[in-house]
Amino acid sequence: MKVLAGLVLFALAAAGQNRMPAAKETSLRADMLGHIDSMKKLAQVMNDSVFSFGELGFQEFETSKYLTGVLEKEGFKVERGVAGVPTAFLATWGQGKPVIALGSDIDDIPQASQKPGVVAHTPMIEGAPGHGEGHNSGMPLNIIAALAVKQVMEAEHLQGTIKLWPGVAEELLGTKAYYVRAGMFKDVDIVLFAHVADNFRVAEGAGNQTGLVSVEYSFKGESAHAAGAPWRGRSALDAVELMDVGWNFRREHIRVGSRVHYVITNGGDQPNVVPPNASVWYYYREADYPHVMDLWRIGDDMAKAAALMTGTTVTSRLLGAAWPGHFNVPIAEAMYQNMLKVGLPQWSDDDQRLARALQHELGQPERGLATKIPEMRKPRAVEEDDNGVGPTGGGSDDIGDVSWVVPTVTLNYPSNIPGGPGHNWANAVSMATPIAHKGVIGGAKVQAMTMLDILLHPELVDKAWDYFRNVQTKDTKYQSFLRPEDQPAIWLNQKTMETFRPKMKELYYDPGKYETYLDQLGIKYGN
Ligand SMILES: [Zn+2]
Repeated sequence: MKVLAGLVLFALAAAGQNRMPAAKETSLRADMLGHIDSMKKLAQVMNDSVFSFGELGFQEFETSKYLTGVLEKEGFKVERGVAGVPTAFLATWGQGKPVIALGSDIDDIPQASQKPGVVAHTPMIEGAPGHGEGHNSGMPLNIIAALAVKQVMEAEHLQGTIKLWPGVAEELLGTKAYYVRAGMFKDVDIVLFAHVADNFRVAEGAGNQTGLVSVEYSFKGESAHAAGAPWRGRSALDAVELMDVGWNFRREHIRVGSRVHYVITNGGDQPNVVPPNASVWYYYREADYPHVMDLWRIGDDMAKAAALMTGTTVTSRLLGAAWPGHFNVPIAEAMYQNMLKVGLPQWSDDDQRLARALQHELGQPERGLATKIPEMRKPRAVEEDDNGVGPTGGGSDDIGDVSWVVPTVTLNYPSNIPGGPGHNWANAVSMATPIAHKGVIGGAKVQAMTMLDILLHPELVDKAWDYFRNVQTKDTKYQSFLRPEDQPAIWLNQKTMETFRPKMKELYYDPGKYETYLDQLGIKYGN
């Protein structure tokens, strides 16, 4: 009988039909959740290790080496340096359909070095980068989910392929459009992305992300003695400042939801030399492709005008890009149900105490950690209202590009403390503590449950693609912001990491010696 059942399952699997009786599926899911709980140690070690590497975008070499090492040990085939990005990889296990690709970002934030579990601003290394958002937790979450589902697939002879890929340089919107261009998602059925948050959340339809292009303008003038012969000089810095002034007047006369911001990346060397070279780096954010392109054109005009005014020349290069995300409704709804089934982690008194202490320190409401999963986030309106006001919006994530070539959702999971400002030391406080570890385990359960939905219920994949083809992309067609000559900006952050890495290396987590990273740092957690 057992042999026969095995044969039938094998035959079904061969036909791409991973079906099973409901009772069997229920017990299988319960076993899988138990298996995830048994991987708590591995989750903590991976989370804390990546936290300690603390690498900026495009320089995630230790992180990439470490994560691919774990995956190879677990039987995944790893392709490194994909899409022309040295720290990117694609890890694959299994065969046939469906193909599920799990992604999450791995880079961190400049100057966000922070001792975990400490509520005052206390850098581990002054000025060094750190996980002031929590990108150290997402790939560990995905790996735990993948290992749990892989075990189920092996035991039940289920057909399907699991792929894992990292979001390199997400803080720079640096790579995912290149992944799409390189065809990384060509044979993928569903992408499940994971991003740290302070609760379980999943968005459906148009999310609240803006699209963006990241463009650096470099002006070239002529140096001269700034006091002795200023008339012989042409200041590239003047051009940068005039471009910025131009934008600061113009910003009143663009849509309310537009976001234009810049940093001066090169302002010259010293005051007595007329700056022959200067650069300014702009982010142009808007709700959709045409409006992002409008901002880009205005910016290019500003740069040309500034060059004309100053007798300098200007060139520009694209450093990153992101489409506004659009998330698959059927998959998001399935994932939301799994969030309700898994539930929020059981926070200890120590977890809640740390959260409230940090909220107190930040002058935020002292509401502790999340104890209720919010309603599903409804799609945002994309149209302008009667006053010509388009959607107002916030941040961007280059998962947006992926979401326009394959049905995608983003799993938000609770490893952060509510009330942090984002991109800040305060968001690093929880990220190598039991709060992050519990969020990773909870998130891995939701991710793994959703993977089983996809593997065991092929009609869900059909529904996802029906939505993708007939609703999402019915009128809006994906057009990359990338021009053929654009290449990933892999030199970014190199110098900063070279400066800090030697000191940071001394603080890499050694799981052979210390139970947790907090133990290694001598930080007492709770009472
Ligand atoms: Zn992020």
